[in-house]
Amino acid sequence: MVNPRRRWTSRKSGQTMIFLITILIILTFIALFNFDLHKIIYVKSLSQNAGDGAALAAARWQATTLNLVGDLNIMQAVALTQGATGEAAAIAEMEARLCYVGPMVGFIAAEQSAKNNGVFNNSRFTSNVLAHAQTVLTDYRALGADGKMLFPEPYPNAWVEYADMIAAVGEEGVAAGPDNARYYEDYTGGHLLLELDFYDAIAAEDWCWFLGHAMDALLNYTDYRWWPPLPDQIPTPQPMNSEYFGLGLRKTEHIMDRRALDAMAGLETERGLTGTVDAATVDSVTSTWYCYDATWTSWDAISPTGPDPFPTTGRIIPKYDYAGADSAIRVLTEATRYTPGSSNSVITWTAAAKPFGYLNQSERPDSYDLVLPAFRDIRLIPVDASSAPEAGSFDLDWRDHIEKHLPDYMKAGPGALHPDSCWYCLQLVTWENLVFRQTGIDWLAKNSGDCNKGGPGPGGGGGGGRRRGH
Ligand SMILES: [Zn+2]
Repeated sequence: MVNPRRRWTSRKSGQTMIFLITILIILTFIALFNFDLHKIIYVKSLSQNAGDGAALAAARWQATTLNLVGDLNIMQAVALTQGATGEAAAIAEMEARLCYVGPMVGFIAAEQSAKNNGVFNNSRFTSNVLAHAQTVLTDYRALGADGKMLFPEPYPNAWVEYADMIAAVGEEGVAAGPDNARYYEDYTGGHLLLELDFYDAIAAEDWCWFLGHAMDALLNYTDYRWWPPLPDQIPTPQPMNSEYFGLGLRKTEHIMDRRALDAMAGLETERGLTGTVDAATVDSVTSTWYCYDATWTSWDAISPTGPDPFPTTGRIIPKYDYAGADSAIRVLTEATRYTPGSSNSVITWTAAAKPFGYLNQSERPDSYDLVLPAFRDIRLIPVDASSAPEAGSFDLDWRDHIEKHLPDYMKAGPGALHPDSCWYCLQLVTWENLVFRQTGIDWLAKNSGDCNKGGPGPGGGGGGGRRRGH
């Protein structure tokens, strides 16, 4: 008869082994990352291209983190096969942390890369990041009437740790703005006043844009009380992705696609992991698995067909045809001008990059829903094909307009706008003028047949078009 105590001890030491291996993998990847980072900085410093270097550095960390989450998913399956549910839960908590720590290290790497390329800290970016650290610390943790935090923490003490990381980036100074940051309290959209195209169309008197997008407003607008209320800044119910360079992941209790389990054996060898995975055992227990969320669709933004075609030749090959985690960067540099009376010109550079990979030679990394280590490369992508919002998340003039000016305007009308300092407010003042709107109505009554011909609208032209990045 087997001594039960002896069997317990040997199983216990096996479980501890798994845990140590997990930690070792993470340390190895951090070491590899350091090597990569130096390589990126070296290569990019030669090209003097800070924005590109920063975008690549952030995307490199997204790829590394996604692969680590994939490794940990496999380790969790190994732990569950051995009946080590405690270790499986510890692995899941490590994954929860990685969803923040990984992208935040990417943020740091992006800043290092930008600074190594000679870009200086931007004081507005810096104060925005520092202010956000404070928001996380105070607002996100604020207790509601039900005694719960505004945003439930994805792991114990998450908001304090996350705020510390953001503050650490801010204290060093921010040179490269993370242009696809999505704050949990951001507007969810769905209002004309929140559409950048609306302001562009006013500025360019692009009446055709109104015909296609906002005819009701053009015909029926009376005054500021006509607008429907601004949408709520609905809090994300269950935050689990970093707001900066988020990975786009979600959690499930069971592995939905069995092919993920089948793929694990091959990936274990490739990634140097060990352990057996028994699908039936893994299926039989509830655990916390990290999967791809709804942002991982096909990569429509780069499709040459569809409602908003991208000017490329040919469709992207299927295994790379996915949207999802990517990085977008905004760098502002000031060029001193010596002409008397002219102010310095600010040059804006935006860049984007994205992790690429595949499963089984030909399938998208997200084919089996579960995150698996599949990312092998990072590439620069056109900014317009990235997840950067149209106006740019670190376009701080736009942020000020929608977050500060619009709520005042909705309460008090045009008198609360700032047309002297805000370009968007200036467009709204124009919009308020009945004669301006009547010009558009009259023009469309005669010329609406000329719209939808693919060319730019009248009066300046191209106002409603998408900006096409480099
Ligand atoms: Zn404004």
